[in-house]
Amino acid sequence: MSSFSELGVGEKVLKSIEELGYKIPTPVQQQAIPVLLKNQQDFLGLAQTGTGKTAAFGLPLIELLETTSKVTQALILAPTRELCMQISNDLADYSKYHPFTIAAVYGGASIERQIQQIKRGAQMIVATPGRLIDLIGRKVINLKAIKFVILDEADEMLNMGFQEDIDSILIHTPPSKRVWLFSATMPAEVREIADSYMHNPFELVIGKKNVSASNIEHRYYVVQERDRYAALKRIIDAEPEIFAIVFARTRLDVQKIAEDLIRDGYNADSLHGDLSQQQRDKVMNRYRNHSLQILVATDVAARGIDVDDVTHVIHFHLPEEAENYAHRSGRTARAGKSGISIALVNSRETGKIRQIEKKVNALFRISKIPDVELVCEQQLLKLVRKIKDVEVDTAGIAKYLPVAFNELSSLTREELIERFISLEFNRFLDYYRNAPELKSGYSHNEEKDRGDHYHEGIRLFINLGSMDGFKESSLRNYISETASVPAKNIGNIILKGVYSFVYVPVKYLPIIVESFTGETYKGRNVRIEEGGRRTDSDSRKSKQKVKQFQSEGKGKFGRSDRNKEKKSRKKESKRW
Ligand code: AMP
Repeated sequence: MSSFSELGVGEKVLKSIEELGYKIPTPVQQQAIPVLLKNQQDFLGLAQTGTGKTAAFGLPLIELLETTSKVTQALILAPTRELCMQISNDLADYSKYHPFTIAAVYGGASIERQIQQIKRGAQMIVATPGRLIDLIGRKVINLKAIKFVILDEADEMLNMGFQEDIDSILIHTPPSKRVWLFSATMPAEVREIADSYMHNPFELVIGKKNVSASNIEHRYYVVQERDRYAALKRIIDAEPEIFAIVFARTRLDVQKIAEDLIRDGYNADSLHGDLSQQQRDKVMNRYRNHSLQILVATDVAARGIDVDDVTHVIHFHLPEEAENYAHRSGRTARAGKSGISIALVNSRETGKIRQIEKKVNALFRISKIPDVELVCEQQLLKLVRKIKDVEVDTAGIAKYLPVAFNELSSLTREELIERFISLEFNRFLDYYRNAPELKSGYSHNEEKDRGDHYHEGIRLFINLGSMDGFKESSLRNYISETASVPAKNIGNIILKGVYSFVYVPVKYLPIIVESFTGETYKGRNVRIEEGGRRTDSDSRKSKQKVKQFQSEGKGKFGRSDRNKEKKSRKKESKRW
């Protein structure tokens, strides 16, 4: 892996990114920076948001612009005001030791001020397409000397209906310019833009199309429709340090959920298209500086949200388009951090989960809605830690302490702790004391059919099953002994004919996989891995194995297993 200087980044930029704490280039930076610096070609980069895209194009751009020429040399187009501001701030940070002038122009802010800014001179302009068209119409912007056009989040711009605007903007730029296009997905419309405005572009794909970042854990909870909101509260309550974005389908839904959360004492607010730009900015600023803990948003309003520390993305409703799931969940696990994406679904929507799994190429774990006991435990822990970590102004309170000591002298240590905790915790206990357990949205039969309901931990596939003579207990013992993991820590086992699923706590995954490397059972290689999707070769092998068993007169392969499998495959293939 190369360092930024090995990639060709110059001294001044190195100094500025060092101050930002960038030490190792991200994969997209590793691959894009040298190409953009050296090649004269256009560039097409398929990369998700949060991968370090801005620096991937921003650093070479700064190296390639002429500081002495004061005309506008670079135009960066982005779909939203938030993203525009983010990009221009980032470019300003990266060019701290270069005297570049940058103007950010977007709708919803004073156009006069933006005109003044451009008239003062802007070597780089970062713009939303709509506002830029407006400024071109007013003959404020001259794009004749543009050397670089960068289209960021091109798919989002097209989703938002900016195709015509982009066309008419690009007409005003000289044919000699270089075009760099970044997109998270590659629908036909993006390909069309590439074909129309780019010449033989260098194409770079970071990760697979639509693939969700691997540092995101995907969970889903099956709830009864009427319990959706109660389940959301449970999830939030079970994670006292949560810093989340909750996605809902319509503006009305968003408004209602946010209002309900606020009414119930949560630090939440809404972000949707009915708000004025000023209101949206206010909400975003509060969220960005963590004055707000839960942001409830529509898909459109949340575009361009770039906040690094989002711990959870909660899909109160699944998105209309499976593709949008990746966009939403990509709001967490940014800048090398990990995150959790949680979907709330009713029993009729579980098929959609399978479709999204395929689309984003990630495995979803069904999880149990946190029960009252867990929620209370987590909240108590938070309170106790708050007491433990509180900063004590020893000198400041010294003179008041004797009164307090005197007043509390009759209480034992245990009674004191009980009372301090009860001060805040009573309110919480009162709410949950009579709270009913939330029922799963699955019918009993579906639970049985799926076989994997409510199993905690990660699901492993193992190519051994009842046909190998295993019972659940013996398979548990076998895994326990081979991997030296206590049997009691191995969760549910779903024994199938020629394979099984085993649930184990995530922490045991590496040791189990490692211990089983090279392991054989009755002369056969044992394969154990995360997931549970069987490969074609597994299917072939299992058919062979069944035949072999049948010809050996060892009984029939569990017909019910096969029927179940068929049924669940049919369910999965229903088009969403
Ligand atoms: P982006 O995809 O450009 O929105 O970047 C996502 C986040 O990663 C931003 O907060 C960047 O400041 C941060 N970032 C980008 N490159 C690096 C790097 N090489 N090291 C650490 N953080 C980075």
